[in-house]
Amino acid sequence: MEKIALDKVRNMGFIAHIDAGKTTTTERVLYYTGKTYKIGDIDEGTTQMDWMEQEKERGITIQSAATTCFWPPKEANNPRPIHRINIIDTPGHVDFTAEVERSLRVLDGAVVVFDGVVGVEPQSETVWRQADKYKVPRLCFLNKLDKTGADFEASVETIKERLGAEPAVIQMPIGLEDKFQGVVDLLTMEALYWLDEKGEGLEIREVPEDLKDKAADKRAELIEIISATSEELLEKYLEEGPESITSDELKKALRRATINNELFPVLGGASFRNKGVQTLIDAIVDYLPSPLDVPETTGYNPVTGEQEKRQPSAETPLAALVFKIQTDPYVGRLAYFRVYSGKVPAGTEVYNSTRQKRGRVGRLLIMHANHREQVQELDAGEIGAALGLEASTGDTLCSADEPIVLEKIVFPEPVISVAIEPKTKAGQEKMMDSLRRLSEEDPTFTIRSDQETGETIISGMGELHLEILVDRLLREFKVEANVGRPQVAFRETIRQTVEQEGKYIRQSGGRGQYGHVFIRLEPKGRGEGFEFVNKIRGGAIPSEYIPAVKKGVKEATESGVLAGYPVTDVKVTLFDGSFHEVDSSEIAFKIAGSDAFKKGARQADPTLLEPIMKVEVTTPEQYLGDVIGDLSSKRGEISETEARGSTRVVKALVPLTEMFGYATALRSMSQGRAVFNMEPSHYQPMPKNIAEKIIGEK
Ligand code: GDP
Repeated sequence: MEKIALDKVRNMGFIAHIDAGKTTTTERVLYYTGKTYKIGDIDEGTTQMDWMEQEKERGITIQSAATTCFWPPKEANNPRPIHRINIIDTPGHVDFTAEVERSLRVLDGAVVVFDGVVGVEPQSETVWRQADKYKVPRLCFLNKLDKTGADFEASVETIKERLGAEPAVIQMPIGLEDKFQGVVDLLTMEALYWLDEKGEGLEIREVPEDLKDKAADKRAELIEIISATSEELLEKYLEEGPESITSDELKKALRRATINNELFPVLGGASFRNKGVQTLIDAIVDYLPSPLDVPETTGYNPVTGEQEKRQPSAETPLAALVFKIQTDPYVGRLAYFRVYSGKVPAGTEVYNSTRQKRGRVGRLLIMHANHREQVQELDAGEIGAALGLEASTGDTLCSADEPIVLEKIVFPEPVISVAIEPKTKAGQEKMMDSLRRLSEEDPTFTIRSDQETGETIISGMGELHLEILVDRLLREFKVEANVGRPQVAFRETIRQTVEQEGKYIRQSGGRGQYGHVFIRLEPKGRGEGFEFVNKIRGGAIPSEYIPAVKKGVKEATESGVLAGYPVTDVKVTLFDGSFHEVDSSEIAFKIAGSDAFKKGARQADPTLLEPIMKVEVTTPEQYLGDVIGDLSSKRGEISETEARGSTRVVKALVPLTEMFGYATALRSMSQGRAVFNMEPSHYQPMPKNIAEKIIGEK
């Protein structure tokens, strides 16, 4: 691996609403950085980043692998020193929020790709807000300027209006739609033309006569916006006039303002036509942060509980975050991680502080677009993958002597379930095994078996999410399966504290069975999950049987007493019991624990919990009343209505139970003109009458 100084590394990703052109843009970037040798065309399904077949078929990206490339290429006549760009792949669909969030957590900057015909769409707003949450510096790329209806300026307006962000427009397109030829660089005042459709020629010319005035106005606007972010420049601007500021000064100030999330540089292009890609890569290098530009990483010391900070340097103690587990068809299970501080040499031991166990890093790999590179070490700021390391997404790797746990990636809970069964009986074991592997890779995908019906139930973030997983089951693991209708993933919980005895005693002839426990069940806060506490004192139950009690209780929570849904947000304390010298066994204590939990849950005012979705509907004004009325009739709570030009955006919290078939309903309500998107928000107790209906149906 060519060692490149940390200030010349960019860890970045492309984020976008599905169909804006993220895949095409990423692929063109890989082409121009010299790592791919043929321009693949997403429409023909030959793109480099998307490994998995069904992604190609659907033309969407799901997995976030990391690909490394270099810019500018050695042979190019580009004055910049060589930079390493690590591209973290991010998904474009809101069903994959967890994937988006986990990639945002490890990248330092992003390019948001917009469709230059419509600008900001509802889903681009969702990804923008996610990036806001992690304060990710961003460039905006207005793509598809060659398309009929392309409108650069109107698209820039949507960035201001809908995202409330301050764009710094650094280019002006030359022509639009089928006359889109290039851009004027407003910092250097050069006209850049891509006249050859294959994207080879980038010609630099003078700004054409008819665009000079407009370009001068746009440049003046840009200088004003940039100067306002720097006291020094502002002073110069006021005292010596705008044109006294050099383009180097402007670039430096814009870089700082971008890294501080004050300004968002805007560029244009048409990736599909190979226009505007080299200038976009230049901007990634010029304006997005290096690992040295971002704040030091924080975490806590698991021994002292104190907060600790780590500087991005190979000389500090190790802190690395595993952000992706992926099964590579050729080399096996890879754990992708980012090193925040210190270094990870190949073949050494690391401490997994999240799981509190030591592990061994085997080979280390860096992924290029078309080959894997084996490296000896990964240093602070770098991203790569380890072979043979037992770890899960979100785990921290560090040194055992100086442990640290980095802030966890928080994943939303799955809200949609389907029953799944193998087409042949013999496939059962293979199916379970494959499902388990998929869920190791993806923490928002869970498996359980319904204790009443014996069915295997898989749950995920949305219908598309589950469809894709079932697809992978078939393609990667060759398991054919039948799936049922999608159902809401309800939960159960309790609302009162109770104490309950449980026993399993059989003492007639021969060796008997004896397990006897007292447990307390207490409600916990929403989202806190399950907790088991052992308060046995003085040996009322020998310690060897305690894990069996816990196991019995835990198993009982997998199928609740109301309708068999998993029980959550409950604390169980084992506080008393008894045992028999000869007859006691693990199995007897397990059954006693399970028995106590089931009886206790029935008395503890159990209730159903349902997932609540954050829903956003964009509609022409004339349908606003109908949309709101309809959402209210679905037990929706309208949180906000805002105007965006002539359209209205309604934000609401609505139970998922009520949202089946909404796409069709909304279409007919609005002559097909309103659109919506939704994502899981939280779980909430269901009203009694509705819960009773669901329980009755089970
Ligand atoms: P993604 O879903 O954001 O990854 O988008 P893709 O890269 O798959 O592109 C979606 C569609 O838009 C494909 O049919 C592309 O060929 C098309 N597309 C991408 N970039 C451009 C462009 O610059 N101009 C035009 N006209 N079409 C484009």
